[in-house]
Amino acid sequence: MSNPRPRLVVLGGGFAGTLAAGRLSRRAAITLVNPRPHFVQRTRLHQLAAGNHEATENYRKLLGKGVELLVDTATRIESDTRTVRLGSGRAIQYDYLLYAVGSTATRRSTVPGVEEFAYPIAEYEHARHLRNTLANTDRDAVVTVVGGGLTGLETASELAEQGRRVRLVCRVVGPTLTENTRRAVRERLSALRVEVVERARVTRVGPDGLALEDGTVLPSAVTVWTGGFGVPELARSSGFSTDSVGRMLTDETLTSIDDERVVAAGDCASPSGDPLRMACQSALPLGVVAADTILSRIAGEEPAKLDVGFNGVGVSLGRRSGVVQLHRRDDTPTDRTFTGRTAAFLKDLGLKSAMAGLRTEALWPGTVRFFRGGRHPVDATVPAEENVR
Ligand SMILES: Cc1cc2nc3c(=O)[nH]c(=O)nc-3n(C[C@H](O)[C@H](O)[C@H](O)COP(=O)(O)OP(=O)(O)OC[C@H]3O[C@@H](n4cnc5c(N)ncnc54)[C@H](O)[C@@H]3O)c2cc1C
Repeated sequence: MSNPRPRLVVLGGGFAGTLAAGRLSRRAAITLVNPRPHFVQRTRLHQLAAGNHEATENYRKLLGKGVELLVDTATRIESDTRTVRLGSGRAIQYDYLLYAVGSTATRRSTVPGVEEFAYPIAEYEHARHLRNTLANTDRDAVVTVVGGGLTGLETASELAEQGRRVRLVCRVVGPTLTENTRRAVRERLSALRVEVVERARVTRVGPDGLALEDGTVLPSAVTVWTGGFGVPELARSSGFSTDSVGRMLTDETLTSIDDERVVAAGDCASPSGDPLRMACQSALPLGVVAADTILSRIAGEEPAKLDVGFNGVGVSLGRRSGVVQLHRRDDTPTDRTFTGRTAAFLKDLGLKSAMAGLRTEALWPGTVRFFRGGRHPVDATVPAEENVR
């Protein structure tokens, strides 16, 4: 007979974990383990760095009744005894585990000097550190943003709009964008007086600048490194099967291929080894699917297979402009792109809707719906670490 109120442990209170906790809150006793006492809106970390948004939200507004928040860090999952070991020394037990630990900055860079002198922006503490550093840096000093992915474009634009002297160093501007969208991005960067150094490969970062492969040396007071996302090592170090990046390998119901009691969602999940792009836009529906998989198991039913649809990619280019590239549900781009203030409005609306979705699911579990009808895997031409957003 199935347990009427199973113990569920959710590791990671980001978009996927928080949404899933809300969805499951009426059917299970839930403990959400997260290292911080507040929710972090990673989608606004470039704004936190620029000083125009706090990028946090009170969990009280986002967690359903009956979800207990445990401020701690999981250090090991022991699936044979269904135990999670925590940084504090505590251990908690589960009937079902949701693995939703998200992503981080790329694991240690091989470029000399990056770890010592460059500022990452993938996590809350990184963005705060960068904001504090910028507050103590002369406003005329050059700030270099390395990486032409969406996070690099958003960070460069946000800082430039605030009057900073910004240089963007990258191999290509917006590798995942269409030519149309890229053109609009370039125009905006030029209007913001961002100096773009393209087809560049950084070979060394120092305290006052960086060196490129062709021998060019660029002075830089602050260097921001946005070279893609990695994922926490927890799944791999706990003995679970992972993909090459370290995401937990699951089947199409998001269940770990090693353990039916463990389900993964968000940036740290790799369904069939063919992961969706790392994005809030993927994490939310994956949170729903993971929660529904657990609900089906509790009810003794067969869980449904993953069916997630996309609608586009939004990039803010400062507060007053942006680009929104519309996609088909299978995540392939169309040739329609919104630009300027309309795009800035749509992008911000998308971020607000994501937060509204978390609040709604906490209040009325099971009500949030997402696009279906096309799960398309990553663009094989883009390196895994850069396939974000
Ligand atoms: C600057 C920036 C801008 C972005 N903009 C966009 C955007 O516009 N649109 C978009 O779709 N995506 C965007 N993203 C990407 C998006 O934020 C992530 O893809 C999304 O947050 C992933 O959600 P998640 O729930 O998988 O993980 P996360 O939101 O990363 O949450 C994971 C949580 O797990 C916690 N955790 C980690 N390890 C442990 C552990 N061992 N024990 C317990 N808890 C742990 C983390 O601290 C975190 O709180 C952006 C990212 C950045 C950095």
